[in-house]
Amino acid sequence: MRYGEDIMIPSSKIMVFSHCLLNKSTRWWQNGKPIERNIGLVTEVMEFLLKHNIGVFQMPCPEFTFCGNPRPSRTKDEYEALPGFREHCDRLAKSVVEQLKAFIFMGVKPRIQILAVIGVKRSPSCAVSGVIRSIGREIRLVEEKGIFMEALIKYMLEEGLSARFLEFDFDEPHKIIVDLESLLH
Ligand code: SF4
Repeated sequence: MRYGEDIMIPSSKIMVFSHCLLNKSTRWWQNGKPIERNIGLVTEVMEFLLKHNIGVFQMPCPEFTFCGNPRPSRTKDEYEALPGFREHCDRLAKSVVEQLKAFIFMGVKPRIQILAVIGVKRSPSCAVSGVIRSIGREIRLVEEKGIFMEALIKYMLEEGLSARFLEFDFDEPHKIIVDLESLLH
């Protein structure tokens, strides 16, 4: 993330995660959804981090901190229509960027290397590559980032920070491992 660095300086690797990957209790939940989907953490990711001795920074959950639980599953446009939600995401993203800046600019030795930011596939807030939108009467997956990710990327760019962005798919949890492994080579 920082250019012209001395590769001989020891570095500590970290990854930046969407909140619910380490704490599934913040995912949307309401009566009828199996409670097991909201308990614990994503073991596939944790095993990878432990195996490779990688640290973690957990970002806040925009939806839980705004709506709490129980809350319904919403599309991106429904979150866009919630008064104050985009501003809430903006505030959280700014605060995350301040903390990432501290890692990068205050971590002189050992240097802190941010390997990647990991979002959540299809999330209206935390998706990296595609979100669910209502288009007319249909619900479609469209190539857009989530509202919080849009703000995070914008503020990172403004501060001269860059990182790889990956995303976790709760429907295909093993897929992330290939992407994570590729970061180490
Ligand atoms: S994907 Fe983002 S907004 Fe949704 S539960 Fe996870 S951290 Fe919260």
